[in-house]
Amino acid sequence: MGNVEEKTGKTEEAQQCPKCGSRELGKGRQSGYAAVVPQDGFFRIGASIIHVICTECGYIVESYVDKPQKFKE
Ligand SMILES: [Zn+2]
Repeated sequence: MGNVEEKTGKTEEAQQCPKCGSRELGKGRQSGYAAVVPQDGFFRIGASIIHVICTECGYIVESYVDKPQKFKE
């Protein structure tokens, strides 16, 4: 991993589903063949996608890749 700067300021900030207003959010990891790979294809190992999902209505509040450093040129 090395000296990757993690955002460790606040851990679980009170996020809220914009659709139903629930604060019951869960995280899901999407990986495997659904992984995102950099467009130029230099790295063949993709990054997993993390979804923050409302566990009430299923709305995906946010999605981000696990290792964004892979997408730097
Ligand atoms: Zn919701």
